[in-house]
Amino acid sequence: MGAMTDRSRKQAERAQLDYPLTAPAADGSVVTIAPGLLWARMPMQGSLGHINVYLLEDNDGWWIVDTGLCIDKVKSLWLKLADKYFAEKPLKALICTHFHYDHSGQSAWLNDYFNVPVYMTHGEYFAMRVFSTGIADVGSPSQRDFFHCSGVPGDLAEEVIVSCSNDPFRAASPPSYIRIRDEQSLQIGSRQWRIIIGQGHSPEHACLYCEDEGILIAGDQLLPEISSNVLVTDIEPYGNPLALWLQSLTRLEKLPDETLVLPAHGPVFRNLKVRVHQLQTHHERQLNILREKMADGQPATAFQLMGCLFQRKLSTIENILALGETLAHLNWLMENHEISALTDSEGIRQYCAE
Ligand SMILES: [Zn+2]
Repeated sequence: MGAMTDRSRKQAERAQLDYPLTAPAADGSVVTIAPGLLWARMPMQGSLGHINVYLLEDNDGWWIVDTGLCIDKVKSLWLKLADKYFAEKPLKALICTHFHYDHSGQSAWLNDYFNVPVYMTHGEYFAMRVFSTGIADVGSPSQRDFFHCSGVPGDLAEEVIVSCSNDPFRAASPPSYIRIRDEQSLQIGSRQWRIIIGQGHSPEHACLYCEDEGILIAGDQLLPEISSNVLVTDIEPYGNPLALWLQSLTRLEKLPDETLVLPAHGPVFRNLKVRVHQLQTHHERQLNILREKMADGQPATAFQLMGCLFQRKLSTIENILALGETLAHLNWLMENHEISALTDSEGIRQYCAE
């Protein structure tokens, strides 16, 4: 599929959604979505450019959802927002939808500086702690083995390991948390927010849904314009996160179509069912590319098959994401008994159609 086709498909997809609000700049500006519900943005490097954060007004203080990266610029924007909003009513609590750095990177600082509790699910809190203390075993024999089995060339695997061990965004974790669970309700001011857990992008991702007003704070579980990463990594090489991701989408699809979706990246939007369908179609398309490629009967490694799904030149980090995404689709096909894998004499897994 050529770049032009991708671009025009994205444009067509975008045209099917409804964007009722203009986004705030990532400079401490704020857009009011509804009374006591504010939208701000924190800057990010890379193609995303920003993360959306949301401020929820309670009777006696403010809650925030997600934090931005652990970089000075983000800290200074939180201080700017604090001057404007938390002088009259203090910051009261922080919710992190999931552990990824752009969502939880400032959680330790906010917890300490404002002395506020951090609300997270169990799965996300402990994933964050593992990554922040660096015991994620970058460069361990098992991680090297994972790259080798996947057919990643040795020099590229070394490059990936070096760039992971120099990760500039690694952040400290708050020492304790308040656990939130699926279907639990949080009363914040006049609104009741129900926690809806999603999986596949991260272990136990929390969305917040206000049924009375039809508002979903979706985190990375439902994004407009981009598809969330669904990755297999060395930590769970035989996992099937794509199945979990598709199940989570099916669950969100049951919410009313007029729901206002507040995503972590990109604009606030409506037409939730259309967006769910676009994402389902995206993964079906990826699966079909792999099915077609493997129909030729030639065994191929995950790294070779990755070249069919991602045809442009990839940066080091993009290579890991692309490999993880490819493996997620391969593991889905394996579990669906459409393909099988054999380990060759060099210890490399070769996939072929059943
Ligand atoms: Zn994420």
